[in-house]
Amino acid sequence: MIRVHSYESLGTYDGPGIRLVVFLQGCPFRCLYCANPDTIGFDGGHLTAPEEILRRAVNEQPFFGKKGGVTFSGGEPTAQAKELLPLFRMLKENGIHICIDTNGGIRNGYVEKLLSLADLVLLDIKEMDPQRHKKLTGQDNSRVLETAQWMEKTGKPFWLRYVLVPGLTDFTEDLHALGKHFKDFNMLQKVDILPYHTLGAHKYEALGKEYQLKGTPLNTSAQLEEAKSILEGYFNVVTVC
Ligand code: SF4
Repeated sequence: MIRVHSYESLGTYDGPGIRLVVFLQGCPFRCLYCANPDTIGFDGGHLTAPEEILRRAVNEQPFFGKKGGVTFSGGEPTAQAKELLPLFRMLKENGIHICIDTNGGIRNGYVEKLLSLADLVLLDIKEMDPQRHKKLTGQDNSRVLETAQWMEKTGKPFWLRYVLVPGLTDFTEDLHALGKHFKDFNMLQKVDILPYHTLGAHKYEALGKEYQLKGTPLNTSAQLEEAKSILEGYFNVVTVC
């Protein structure tokens, strides 16, 4: 059984085309800006049979068009890699395109099998500086970078997603470090800069937690343009989402 937090139909934000987005429960990171803090706990969500998720995907398949499909997000989908494997095989048998939106922080054999079955991986790089990554997420970024290396080595297409948080992840030197680290990766198709937002802030209160980024300003368009222009020095396709 798979722990599902929620679904979003006709999503256009998490991967190519029109997609069914399945938000899974449980994440080992503790990102200060997490917009879905209710997906972090490993004991929440609804235990769901893989066949039920397949049924939803097949029902929505007519809307997917040529590029769309199913995206697994969260939470951290690879935390349930073993449970997801049969579902991924069923989706492939039905010709459904699969994306995984992952923080790349979990490395084991099940995760490698799961990523192998996905058509596209959306890898969230939180920070290039290990200390800043740890401050932001609770863990350093060594496994995240290993995941990227593994995808490059095994030929798995991926996009990078980077949330630009003023004062936390918008350091010029770290954006250059990101560019230098990934510029020669052949499997990297695209880099998405995601503006910082506070849409999930109210959820912290509901969970009895404090939103630690209170007072952090939103990005100005000049900041987003500057980050884009730095990354365009290294990559062919950079978008601000
Ligand atoms: S990796 Fe994603 S789900 Fe996990 S804490 Fe960070 S933002 Fe939230």
